[in-house]
Amino acid sequence: MDITRLRGIGVSPGIAMGKALLPKRVIFTSRKEIIPEDRIPDELKRLRQALDRTRDDLIRVKEGVREKMGPDSSLIFEAHLLILEDPSLVGGLEAVIRDEKARTEWALSKANARYEQLFASLPDDYFRQRISDVADVLKRVYRNLETGPEPEALPQTPHVLIAHDLLPSEAALRLSKQLTLGVALDMGGRTSHTAILARSLGIPAVLGLHDISHQVRDGEFVVVDGTDGEIIIDPPPAVRREFQAKKEKYENYGRELRKTAKLKSETLDRVRFTPQANIELPEELDLAMAMGAEGVGLFRSEFIYLRRETLPTEEDHYDTYVRLARGANPHGVTIRTLDIGGEKSLPQLNIEKEPNPALGLRAVRFSLRNRDLFRTQLRAILRASAAGRMRVLVPMITEVDEVLEIKDLFEDVKRELRRKGEAFDEQIPLGVMIEVPAAAALADVLLKEVDFVSIGTNDLIQYYLAVDRANEFVTYLFKPFHPAVIRLVRSVIQAARRADKDVVVCGEMAADTPSAIVLLGFGLRTFSMNPIFIPRIKKALRSIECSTAEKIAEESLKLRTAREVEEYVTEEILLHHPQVFLTGQALEAATKK
Ligand code: PEP
Ligand code: MG
Repeated sequence: MDITRLRGIGVSPGIAMGKALLPKRVIFTSRKEIIPEDRIPDELKRLRQALDRTRDDLIRVKEGVREKMGPDSSLIFEAHLLILEDPSLVGGLEAVIRDEKARTEWALSKANARYEQLFASLPDDYFRQRISDVADVLKRVYRNLETGPEPEALPQTPHVLIAHDLLPSEAALRLSKQLTLGVALDMGGRTSHTAILARSLGIPAVLGLHDISHQVRDGEFVVVDGTDGEIIIDPPPAVRREFQAKKEKYENYGRELRKTAKLKSETLDRVRFTPQANIELPEELDLAMAMGAEGVGLFRSEFIYLRRETLPTEEDHYDTYVRLARGANPHGVTIRTLDIGGEKSLPQLNIEKEPNPALGLRAVRFSLRNRDLFRTQLRAILRASAAGRMRVLVPMITEVDEVLEIKDLFEDVKRELRRKGEAFDEQIPLGVMIEVPAAAALADVLLKEVDFVSIGTNDLIQYYLAVDRANEFVTYLFKPFHPAVIRLVRSVIQAARRADKDVVVCGEMAADTPSAIVLLGFGLRTFSMNPIFIPRIKKALRSIECSTAEKIAEESLKLRTAREVEEYVTEEILLHHPQVFLTGQALEAATKK
């Protein structure tokens, strides 16, 4: 029998099974309904009423989401209120009703098409995606033309949520730990809002499926395999059983791994290591701590900007950092300053499209060109350092001059705060990311100027191997075990150890078991990663002697290709140290055989 299996991007691991639920979507009319001249005032009134109901809806939803998920998650609705109140939007709708003698449905439909065209022509990917917010608002108005003020009923039974895309507001509203068993979308990727939210709520999710919303019918049984990025539609009983077993295995594995959260982070020969979390939203902190994170090794602060229509104020920054500092207590939080540019852009500023954004005005280069923004962020971080342990991390450093400039600026902001009598941690450590090969080569020099370094292997590999990290055509060349990469990473770790300064790896390499063993062998002690990987890495590092990892790492340096390194390290672990990969139960079963 043919089984429909769809492949997508597994963005939140785990297996979910259940009945599909496809939220009803507003389809804009393609029919222009003409009204008599004397009905125009009534039609304008109808539009006004729908706008008022929409405003009430948005305020109500905003309050509900704020209560459920905190103030940051409700920001999107503030943005929607701003769109709703935009005079050019409302004026445009009224003009169509008046000038074309058309019903409001047509005016909304026309506005949607016009905005779609306008946004599609924008060169910037982030801007282009903002069409979803405008469409979100227009659809609410459309719905409110008929349905009256009662809120849209949300499902009350467990379901697998299937949709073309989820607007950020829909994701915040619809994803529920109790009722959403899994999520599958046509659109989206690892860093989309839905992905981040699904991960932090522990809901299995597969995104980027292209046309799942057309392939599945409401009520149909589906399996979501968020671990392997697969969806199975209406599977026969044997396949259901297979996935049920996989689900149980995964959940047992997860339960067992989570037990490591309370165990000491040390290798078999008692060498201490520190697992930390990479997070993008303060909402992720609880999950991170439950997974055993000993602090936040990387807070990607650009998300403070990306969630707002306007620039964040110093207080917006400050509130987020204080929340993180308190939540991560007694461990610390490393705030990375704005890493904008490249694939992430700031809608609030008219950043010009660059011919080669990955090599353009991104990260620290942008911050040093926009001093006011940078000072605002540094002031907020410093002030928040009075509430808990904090470190500042600057991305994309290429040369020592940048570090000297930042240090001057940092000192100047400190003086300003002292003058104002504001409290802050005078000893707050300042560090830089090592993610440009030049910075790696210059690590010993940079280390003289800073308190710590953090190796961003995602960008370091991209720039060192000349492989775009987001380009699926060259993914096969993105090799963390490339001999050149491991040599370079080792040299940075060694430089930091010689300088007696802290070194962290915060790229994906820290979250992969064989690479983490090699990094441990090179002398790394702090591993920062997506929280969901912490138990696995902690378990692996607790299952091996550091001296063994050192031998494996040393041997791996003698090999010539990425494949040789990968095979050698994996086989060495599988054959001689299988406990690294196995959980307690599985290990017991294996040794009984
Ligand atoms: C990196 O480059 O490895 C990193 C951790 O930063 P980001 O993924 O945010 O660029
Ligand atoms: Mg980076």
